[in-house]
Amino acid sequence: MLLGSHVGMSGKEMMLGSVKEALSYGANTFMLYTGAPQNTRRKEISELNIPAAQELMKENAITKFVVHAPYIINLANTVSAETYDLAVTFLRKEIERAEAMGSDILVLHPGAHVGAGEDAGIASIVKGLNEVLTPECKVHIALETMAGKGSEIGSKFEELSRIYDGVRWNDKLRICLDTCHLNDSGFDVKSDFEGVLKQFERYFSLNQIACIHLNDSKNDQGAAKDRHENIGFGTIGFDALYGVTRIQEFDNTPIILETPYREIGGSADKLAPYKLEIAMLKDGRFNPNLFD
Ligand code: FE
Ligand code: FE
Ligand code: ZN
Repeated sequence: MLLGSHVGMSGKEMMLGSVKEALSYGANTFMLYTGAPQNTRRKEISELNIPAAQELMKENAITKFVVHAPYIINLANTVSAETYDLAVTFLRKEIERAEAMGSDILVLHPGAHVGAGEDAGIASIVKGLNEVLTPECKVHIALETMAGKGSEIGSKFEELSRIYDGVRWNDKLRICLDTCHLNDSGFDVKSDFEGVLKQFERYFSLNQIACIHLNDSKNDQGAAKDRHENIGFGTIGFDALYGVTRIQEFDNTPIILETPYREIGGSADKLAPYKLEIAMLKDGRFNPNLFD
């Protein structure tokens, strides 16, 4: 099983720091943003400290990791040409960065139609992906399943499948399943994840899943909210999430925690929960006192 979390990338060490952070959690994979997820300011590829990071990955037999595009990329925006153009330009650069870092999985939120309607939004996403994907592209864009808050596209498998249908080089597309988002968009992750995968297989095959975001949820099934919770402490619960990590088809699929920082052992600050959560998932038993 490949189990890790999202990690930072900043300071002098940049990507080397990301790998060190992942190792400190006992992870054998990780996910990073190439800069702050909320903005598009990015360093040059030469400043990312890639060779040192790759060396450390090699020493620790980490072979797969994931890059996540920033939230503000919105290919579905037909209302602001500027937003759409920025999304296309930035996504091209993001593909270059992911490739330079040695990742072939770039997770992308499909986008939000901001009032123009689902059809217009999907058409715009298709147009944007057709502008950036080429047959030579080594990186796959993994469309993330969304919670369905606001005008988000991608909370239904059917919508993701319509994107696939429109994209010329759609062998470059993949899917990222986010368990919190699936729950919030109405799927029964808690008691019937097998059934969720059956619904998925009406449109895709399981080998299209390039990445899993393993998160519990603060909200009930179908709430359309998107608030992540620590593993076992939300409405999905430990058993279902542990079950996801044990599915054989996902043995070689990065499973990434994006659970919230929290007080640990009475700490004054909020700390990363990942080391504890990864250990608990490896152990296979829920510990209600994990953060005490
Ligand atoms: Fe995401
Ligand atoms: Fe996610
Ligand atoms: Zn989320």
